[in-house]
Amino acid sequence: MHSEVAKTKQAPPGAVMYKDGQECPICGAAKLERKVVDEKFQYKGHALVVPDYVIVHCAVCEDSLVERESVKTSQIALKEFFKRVDGLPLG
Ligand SMILES: [Zn+2]
Repeated sequence: MHSEVAKTKQAPPGAVMYKDGQECPICGAAKLERKVVDEKFQYKGHALVVPDYVIVHCAVCEDSLVERESVKTSQIALKEFFKRVDGLPLG
């Protein structure tokens, strides 16, 4: 079964850092707004919250992009999280 993770779009590897006030790379019609959030991930009924998760949000296309640093941080945290959940006894 596939994991049920990450609704937020993640920046492709090697992507540039997104900045507050930068033009949206998707629609080009608006400036990006930088936000620091607590991002919640779900896996097999368990939740993991990654604090200080930096996203840039576009008000026009309603898309959110994740900063590279946050992708890195969250991927490490998620790996640990998956391992922990998979290691839990069933029931
Ligand atoms: Zn946009």
